[in-house]
Amino acid sequence: MSQKEKTLTPKLIKKLWLAFILLVLLMGSSYIFITGYFANKYSQETTQRLNADVAHHVIAEKFKDASPFLEDGSVNKPLFGDLMHDMMAVNQSIEVYLLNETGEVLYSVVLDHGDKSSTKSVSLTPIEFFIKNKGERFVLGDDPRNIGEQKIFSAAPYSVDGREGYVYIVLAGKKFQEVSDNLLNQYFTKLGIGATLLTMLFSLVIGLLAIWFLTKNLRLITKTVRKFHDGDLQARISNPENSDIEVFANSFNEMADSIVGNMDKMQSVDLLRRELIANVSHDLRTPLAILKGYIETLQIKNDSLTEEQKQEYLQITHDNVDKLSNLINQLFEYSKLEAEQVTPVKEPFSITELSHDLIAKFRVLAEQKQIDLQLDNPEENCLVFADVSLVERALQNLIENALKYTQANGKVTLSLQKKGKNVEINITDTGTGIPVNEQPFIFDRYKQVDKSAKKQGYGLGLAIVKKIMDLHDTTITVLSRPKEGSSFIFHLPAYQV
Ligand code: ADP
Repeated sequence: MSQKEKTLTPKLIKKLWLAFILLVLLMGSSYIFITGYFANKYSQETTQRLNADVAHHVIAEKFKDASPFLEDGSVNKPLFGDLMHDMMAVNQSIEVYLLNETGEVLYSVVLDHGDKSSTKSVSLTPIEFFIKNKGERFVLGDDPRNIGEQKIFSAAPYSVDGREGYVYIVLAGKKFQEVSDNLLNQYFTKLGIGATLLTMLFSLVIGLLAIWFLTKNLRLITKTVRKFHDGDLQARISNPENSDIEVFANSFNEMADSIVGNMDKMQSVDLLRRELIANVSHDLRTPLAILKGYIETLQIKNDSLTEEQKQEYLQITHDNVDKLSNLINQLFEYSKLEAEQVTPVKEPFSITELSHDLIAKFRVLAEQKQIDLQLDNPEENCLVFADVSLVERALQNLIENALKYTQANGKVTLSLQKKGKNVEINITDTGTGIPVNEQPFIFDRYKQVDKSAKKQGYGLGLAIVKKIMDLHDTTITVLSRPKEGSSFIFHLPAYQV
């Protein structure tokens, strides 16, 4: 585990470094290439602009008063050669060509090979473009000495004895090229090394800072995760919104919260389960002990007991057997509901009829306790869509409770009222009421408000009701005031005929 954790960050740093080195190399070479390209272009464009008039000058100034350089259609080589050599003595980088109107080379003056040229003609398109724009726009023309190569040039048209053509001067001649290449190489080696080194230095600094900043958050997160792993359940990434990996930080915090939440839930479930077992054992033990006591008394003192006493003891044992079976039934019912083994069978039925039946069933008990048990709104026959036996069970528990916690001369009312698409069912009593702070917990199993009242029930009745409501996707609300009474209200979907 720790091995893995240790290698995590260096691996990431290695990858980041590799990316940086590649970036530096790429940037360095692109920088050199782009600079070289534009420097060369800049130098060529400058040279061409500066020397744009050279060819024109040759024709305008030098041949104005001299004898024409074309005599009877052929080149006056000595004259042309002399003048050109004069020019080239001043600027050795130029090569001068005399072209006819189709671009054919009539004569050339180049520095090292006298008047020899490698190609016989050049394209006129760039020359015409150059003349048209008065040399103000950059254009490359054919290099007669190197077929396929393009050079900067100056050109001017001539017209002698009706013969037309061009004076074509290659400005970056072979000599220029040699010097320029040499210098460029030197410059670019220096520039390349300098630029690459500088870029690498900056990248190193930026890279180190970037990696430090990036991994700063990672380190913090790893530290927090490790702390959590080591048992510090409160460990969270502080200010996740300021983190570069906000989503990750938030996810971790949420995950930690839900782990802690689940653990709390599991602990409370476990606590409840233990409580349940303890309570169930207690509830089972008490009636069993009573039963055992009375049965033993009946066995031992059978002869000395009067018939009346025997009947009384038998009644007590009977009551306790009832209690026991009641508890066992409730437990069984609750555990089935909790294990989600009960599937409601929903169907339309008359809740009015069911209420009448229940009221009739509990009337005897209510009369015994001198409680007025009423059904409100019986005239309307309300149909609902629900599981009839589960709803009956819920109503039974609620009426039982109402009667249980209401004193003599009190009143218990079961009212039914159609509200929109639902039927509202309300069981109201004028009994003891439930303290406000206890109200949220009464639906939890084994919660009894007054522990002294425990003998009256097992704290399972409302838990069962709650489960039945869940199965019907509805909720039950309690409104209660101590010493005034309670109302339990829930809704069921009305069935429209
Ligand atoms: P029990 O079997 O103990 O009645 P329930 O789950 O039915 O268990 O009820 C839980 C607790 O809620 C009861 O112990 C009682 O304190 C309170 N309670 C339920 N119904 C009423 C009521 N109608 N009036 C007053 N208290 C009630």
